[in-house]
Amino acid sequence: MTATAEERTRDESPPRRRDHPSSPPQPLAAFLVPPGRDPLTEAFSGREFAPPWRGSTPVAPERAEAVYAEILATPRKEPAIVYLHVPYCQNHCLFCGFFQNVWRPDVADAFVDDLLAEVAEKAETPLVASAPIVAVYLGGGTPTALPAKPLARLVAGLKAMLPLAENCEVTLEGRAFDFGRDKALAAFDAGVTRVSLGVQTFDTGVRKRLGRKLGGPEVAAFLAELVALDRASIVCDLMYGLPGQTHEAWAHDLDTVASLGLDGATLYALNVWRGGRLAAAIDSGRLPPAATLREQARAYATGFARLTERGFAPLAQSHLARSVRERNVYNSGIKRGLPCIPLGPGAGGQAHGHRWRNVIEIDRRRAMRAEGRPFIEGISKNPPRYPAQAAVTGGMEAGALDLSAIETLAPGFRAAAAPLVENWVAAGLGTIVGDTFATTRAGAFWLTNLTGGFFAALDAAAILAASTAAPTEDVLP
Ligand code: SF4
Repeated sequence: MTATAEERTRDESPPRRRDHPSSPPQPLAAFLVPPGRDPLTEAFSGREFAPPWRGSTPVAPERAEAVYAEILATPRKEPAIVYLHVPYCQNHCLFCGFFQNVWRPDVADAFVDDLLAEVAEKAETPLVASAPIVAVYLGGGTPTALPAKPLARLVAGLKAMLPLAENCEVTLEGRAFDFGRDKALAAFDAGVTRVSLGVQTFDTGVRKRLGRKLGGPEVAAFLAELVALDRASIVCDLMYGLPGQTHEAWAHDLDTVASLGLDGATLYALNVWRGGRLAAAIDSGRLPPAATLREQARAYATGFARLTERGFAPLAQSHLARSVRERNVYNSGIKRGLPCIPLGPGAGGQAHGHRWRNVIEIDRRRAMRAEGRPFIEGISKNPPRYPAQAAVTGGMEAGALDLSAIETLAPGFRAAAAPLVENWVAAGLGTIVGDTFATTRAGAFWLTNLTGGFFAALDAAAILAASTAAPTEDVLP
């Protein structure tokens, strides 16, 4: 529903998110903050994109099916998460780069049949069957577009066929439009433990201009109804930086979230997709401009301050929780690089050092399945530094990076990162306590830049290690 660039390989797995696996490493100096800059609004001139799989390489197409078969046949030792993608929405919201198909009620049963057949096939594989699954995320698109019965059948099927841990988090993502109490109860009865609602804003004028169907008060009333049912963790997404969203409207959004008794909330920056419909509407003057990066920074800081004053506590750099029921297991698992089993058209996942994406076109996927072929788009091999990059991503997302733990994974990292850490602490982006680098709120806003800087330090450490390594003896004639 709401996706910033790198979050949720959901981010969690929205289709065709931009990933630049072959982006060349950047020099450390690119991540130094010049003196005298305001840390929150001026530390960097733009945001980096630093996914943990940066540096991955594609598997040759002729080997892809064999590699994929080997991945499925190899058991896991560690827990995994599952991402299931529903590529349908009732309409295309103006700001969204993840829309795929218009929802039609007549597709529901066949679509769920396909998904359950896929789940049944994958559940038998050693990759899936060998160890517990700690979180399942039904994302999209709009999973709540599914009618109550097919939705409940899908969730019950996942629960029956997958090796879910006893306290497995099962998230249903969606929107208030065409959701409703009965569908929510059906989902909870089937096993949903968490609802993540894409609200974006409660300002009715802004909502309508962006293509959202319901007014703000209707969405707030539905959230209150979900909370009152007391059956699951209820969280919502808010966006800041929307065209026409005033400071007062943002403050009202935050106060509304705080007053509803929600278990958690995620604060996202608007991403204006180049060449997208929102960019065109702004360029033509049909909509006012979106917020600048500076304005986004201030809105982010205001959001955290306002919600923490009202009893929320940060669980991640853009997510806050108000109750212990909210655990954010899926999203933190993605950031830490847990194996992720992708299900459904367009879902992406990774395991055993590789990542892949399911074919998104529903008919093509169906035809491939009928021919007994794996319906994947291709496979990439994670870079050698993936464990260290995932550990950096997970630590930074949690707000504190244990530098000695990264040093263990990548010798030489601490020395390479030292100039950055010193610079960032002086610039007000972080603090050092013992061996841990913790972000300030300003540093959290520039999270991807700091993560990218640590990746550059990993690159520098690897280059140094390679240049000082003793030459290996060539045993071949
Ligand atoms: S409901 Fe709107 S915001 Fe959510 S995925 Fe669909 S088009 Fe995007």
